[in-house]
This record gives sequence, C-alpha cells and structure tokens, in this order.
Amino acid sequence: MKRILVLGAGTGGVVTARELSKNSGNEEDINLVEIFVFEKENKSLYSPSLPWLMVGSRKPNQIYEDIKKLDAPGLKVITGEIENIDPKNISVTVNGEEYKGDYMVVSLGVEQVYEEPLAKNGHNFFTVEGATKFNQDLQRFEDGKIAILVSSLPFKSPAAPYEAAMLIDDFIAKHGMSSKTEISLFTPEGGPMEFAGKELSDELKGLLVQKGIKYYPNHQFTSISGNTLEFSNGEKYEFDLLAYTPKHQSPVAIQQSALAGNSGWVNVDRNTMETAFPDVYAIGDITDIPLEMGVSLPKIGFFAKQQGAVVARNIGRKMAGKQPDKSFNGEGQFFIEYGKGMASATEGNFYDSPAPEVKMKTPEHLSHWSKWWSEKYWFFKNF
Ligand SMILES: Cc1cc2nc3c(=O)[nH]c(=O)nc-3n(C[C@H](O)[C@H](O)[C@H](O)COP(=O)(O)OP(=O)(O)OC[C@H]3O[C@@H](n4cnc5c(N)ncnc54)[C@H](O)[C@@H]3O)c2cc1C
Repeated sequence: MKRILVLGAGTGGVVTARELSKNSGNEEDINLVEIFVFEKENKSLYSPSLPWLMVGSRKPNQIYEDIKKLDAPGLKVITGEIENIDPKNISVTVNGEEYKGDYMVVSLGVEQVYEEPLAKNGHNFFTVEGATKFNQDLQRFEDGKIAILVSSLPFKSPAAPYEAAMLIDDFIAKHGMSSKTEISLFTPEGGPMEFAGKELSDELKGLLVQKGIKYYPNHQFTSISGNTLEFSNGEKYEFDLLAYTPKHQSPVAIQQSALAGNSGWVNVDRNTMETAFPDVYAIGDITDIPLEMGVSLPKIGFFAKQQGAVVARNIGRKMAGKQPDKSFNGEGQFFIEYGKGMASATEGNFYDSPAPEVKMKTPEHLSHWSKWWSEKYWFFKNF
C-alpha cells in the first residue's frame, strides 16, 4: 500500500490531505492508500479570521478546529513536533519515530519568532492569543493612540495589517471614539502590497487615507521600550495600544533539512510544486517562488489551497500510473475587509509577465459576504 506523508495541518496540509483522501477510493474498512498528517498543534487555525477576532467579531473557538477531526479512513493525524525531515529517503521523524513514505508534501508554513520586548508591550495579532488579548484591551480602550506595526519583512498575508487597521477604525467609529483616537500603521514597505503594482498599492493607501488612518511606510522598526517604538530613521512613536506582526523565519525542521534553499525557504517548480527531490513536494508559505519583477510570490492561504489541490491530484495520477495533468498557474484571490460590512476583492494572476496583473475592487458588501462564506465553507468542508 502506498503511503503519503503530509507535513503540517494548516491551510495547505488540510487541503492536500482531504483531496488525497477524497480521491483515493478509501472508505470504511477499505484503505487503498495511507495518508499520514504530521502536526505539532492540537488545533488547526483559520488565520483569515484573526482580524475579526481582534475587533470582537469572532470568539477564539470559532476560528480553529480540533485536529483529530481530520481523521478519516486511511487518513491519520500524528501529533508531535517534526524533528527531522529526510527528503532523499522520503521520511520524517516525529516523537522519536521514523515514518517512511512514497510521497511527501511539505506545508509547514512560517515559524514566528518570539521577541520578548514586543510581546511584553504589544499584541502579536498573528496568533489567537495575541488577537484575543488585543481585543480585550480594545474593549476597554477610551481614547489615545493605537499603533499597528509590521515589525519585519517578509511577512505572510501582506494585506493583514491594512485590514486590521481598517477594522479597528470601524470599531472605534462604531463606539464614537474617532475624534479622540489616532490610528497609525508603521511598515518597512515602501507602500502596501507593492508586488501587485503601483496602481493597486495607491488604491489601498487611498482607503487608509479615506478613513483618516496615518500611514508610515519605509519605517524599519528597531526597538521598543515601554510604550515607545523606535525606527531606523531615528523617529519615535508613543502608543497606548499596539498590534504587531511577528518576525517570520523558515521552520527549524526545514532549515536543518536538505530541502532548505539559500534563503532558508524551499525552492520548487512553480507549476508542479515538486522540489529537487523526486516525489517530494512543498506548498504554501514555506516555499520561495521568485516572480519576474524581482520579488517572491506572496505568502497567502489561497495559494496554499490551490497548490495543495494540484499536488494531491497529481500524486493520485502518479499512483494510478498516469501522467500528472494539473499545474498551479499563479491565479490568486483574497478579500480585504474595509469595515461597515464591506470588503475589497483582490484578484489576478501573479505569474503574469512582466508583472502581476492584480486588480482590487472598490469595497462592497458582496465581498465581505464572500469572505464570511469562505470561512464557513472551510470548516464545513474539512472538519
Ligand atoms: C492575520 C492573518 C490573516 C490572513 N488572511 C488571509 C486571507 O484573508 N487570505 C489568504 O489567502 N490568506 C490569509 N492569511 C495567510 C494564510 O493564513 C497563510 O498563507 C496560510 O495559512 C499558509 O498555509 P500553509 O499550509 O503554508 O501554512 P500554515 O497554515 O501556517 O500551516 C503550517 C502548519 O505546520 C505546522 N508546523 C510547523 N512546524 C511544524 C513542526 N516542526 N512539526 C509539526 N508541525 C509543524 C504548524 O503548526 C501549522 O499548523 C492570513 C494570515 C494571517 C496571520
């Protein structure tokens, strides 16, 4: 019996495992293939809902699911930290035990680096705990300065800080605190989502301006002491409430494996997602896919899902002795919450030459509901 190892049960891992399971012919008591999913957490988090958690539109237990609910005939979740990955032999070691497979799909995402000075004085809204605590402080907030900080590059979900700022502004307006609150966003980027072109970047900046959110691009964070942020240009900013994105790195298990490229992330064929090792694939945030314009493909869940579906399909074909027939073509879509029950749909092809053709729509109610539906469908379909 063939065995497929899926590393990580976040966005990409869940889609890969479910697609493989659905198409494998496995059913009760008939296991034609064995799918092992390795995950260190007990819960699978749906990160696009974190900004809603920040402003109290979600409770923590509405945005994750118990990992064990993934289990299905022939599909088994093994909980534990991955200690070693051997792509040459298609094997992985967890809890001291080595598991060997015929195919491997790596979807380990990014590792967030804990930085005590930031954690002591602000909230890392890329975690359930940080977004929850930010919300608790926001509920008590009466007036003053709220800062959103992109602490370093690269970071996943490049729209998330902008979305968070606009949702916080919406909360402040609803609670009648606009006249006594200043919201500022600091980032080392030259502009929002620059990889999507100047037009889109300016449009998104325009939405911030419309809302009166102060935007500080080219601000490289250097340190924090108490409630004061410091930047490499010598500027300082005193805040009352801080939400920040953490420093990202490639997971240690990847860095220590032969899969890590020069950047620490995993290089893949941008259409098949196969690594330099035959039958070993990598998808989602862990990959580094250079685009023609000199930047990398952004780290967003939509891509992890598409890539997972492509890889699962092609592994199925290979197991059946057929040629793989699907490829990932760079199409992407995501929704940026604006507030007032509206969102901007952003979509295009990121593999376009010489630069991605990505368009952002004016905020509308329909796009907010599309984002709402994506969340509901995610849990309904997978758990
Ligand atoms: C605030 C926020 C908002 C976002 N909004 C959107 C959005 O609106 N649209 C969108 O498309 N994307 C969005 N994203 C991005 C999206 O969540 C990620 O791009 C997506 O989750 C990447 O999927 P992945 O499978 O590569 O990694 P992940 O989903 O992060 O999964 C990786 C998994 O691997 C596990 N793991 C890591 N190391 C180990 C180890 N050593 N042993 C065992 N398990 C391990 C982790 O615990 C995790 O479960 C958002 C992200 C954030 C933080």
